[in-house]
Amino acid sequence: MGKTILVLGAGTGGIITAKELSKKVGGKTKVLLFEKEEKNVFAPSLLWLMVGKRKPKQVYRNTRKTGAAGVEVVIGEIEKVNPGQISVTVKGQEYKGDYMVISLGAEQITEYNLNNYGYDFYTLDGATKFNEQLQNFKGGKIVILVPSLPFKCPAAPYEAAMLVESFIRKKRLTNKTEVSLYVPEPGPMGVAGKELSGAVRQMVEMKGIKYFPEQQLTSAAKSTLTFNNGITTEYDLMAFTPKHQCPSVIKETALVGKSGWIEVNRNTMETNFQNVYAIGDITFIPLEMGKPLPKAGVFAHYQAETVAHNIAQKIAGKTTDKTFNGNGQCFLEMGEGKAGYAGGNFYGSPLPYVKMKTPGFFWHWTKVWYEKYWFFKYF
Ligand SMILES: Cc1cc2nc3c(=O)[nH]c(=O)nc-3n(C[C@H](O)[C@H](O)[C@H](O)COP(=O)(O)OP(=O)(O)OC[C@H]3O[C@@H](n4cnc5c(N)ncnc54)[C@H](O)[C@@H]3O)c2cc1C
Repeated sequence: MGKTILVLGAGTGGIITAKELSKKVGGKTKVLLFEKEEKNVFAPSLLWLMVGKRKPKQVYRNTRKTGAAGVEVVIGEIEKVNPGQISVTVKGQEYKGDYMVISLGAEQITEYNLNNYGYDFYTLDGATKFNEQLQNFKGGKIVILVPSLPFKCPAAPYEAAMLVESFIRKKRLTNKTEVSLYVPEPGPMGVAGKELSGAVRQMVEMKGIKYFPEQQLTSAAKSTLTFNNGITTEYDLMAFTPKHQCPSVIKETALVGKSGWIEVNRNTMETNFQNVYAIGDITFIPLEMGKPLPKAGVFAHYQAETVAHNIAQKIAGKTTDKTFNGNGQCFLEMGEGKAGYAGGNFYGSPLPYVKMKTPGFFWHWTKVWYEKYWFFKYF
């Protein structure tokens, strides 16, 4: 009898897992890829969308198009996950498998009623509406806000602020506009080390963006935000990140550890259930330096390749010989057609070893190329 592999979530991790499995297993093995959204958004492009460098239709594809040989895409909300039985329920129908890969990402919810006052730029709708407001902006105060930790893509709010500043500069509104960034963390991309964090802070501040770290939001209202140190700021236009939490359908299961996320073997991505793996944003991987591995697509990507390889090996009766070693890279959009690039090993001991390359046009165009490659290769 052929094996069935259940892949939960067709985001970065799920799509790569399914495509890799399609290449490696073939024959009688069936891959079921479950996804609730018809529109499959490439998240990094939301940053370009929010400043008018992409149209909404350019940043997503139809989820059904991500199928491949041996991969069946099942559209619908997963209502129940049973890791012990290796089964999921969608629209009342139960699907059973021999292996399960959970790549459901982080559930994004709005807190402090922020969607009444600003735009969630981590969503297609929010980034689109923010851009509509920005195009008509005539001057005033723009705030980029991170209301809570953790949030995926540690660079994204910094990139958002720099792209917005660049837009304002191009529109010759700099004299009439203040761009500020409020975050609860002590500095940008802290896991990558003090040097890199300092360099990113400098990049942001050199552009005239007002940076306010260690600001924990306590309340929001039309035109004002209040933080736990008593500071209140006014704004005319605001973009914010949503609260990130473990998806409800997984929270109810014994997969979730003390962290509130799925805790896995950091090299194999195995969970505490046999033949059940978890990858990407839904996982919690503590690092030696005391913070968890950041939530980023690049890690979901490499973890997906590891898990797909090892499942294929298991099916073929061979040794599971691939591991995820904590390597990762990211591009940092700065505006004016330039970007930075940081990369290294996040499992470095005692600290992650991550270095930044000199920012320039090359890294921006590499990021643009990756966007095209993503849509070409996976849809
Ligand atoms: C603005 C922005 C910019 C970013 N830029 C970068 C970048 O430059 N580099 C980088 O590495 N990362 C970047 N990221 C982060 C990256 O997008 C995520 O870390 C990555 O997508 C995580 O992959 P994943 O597979 O774990 O989860 P996701 O890609 O979020 O996929 C999870 C999928 O599961 C589906 N799902 C959830 N619950 C259910 C359910 N109950 N039933 C069915 N389906 C369900 C979701 O709809 C989703 O499609 C960015 C993110 C944002 C928001």
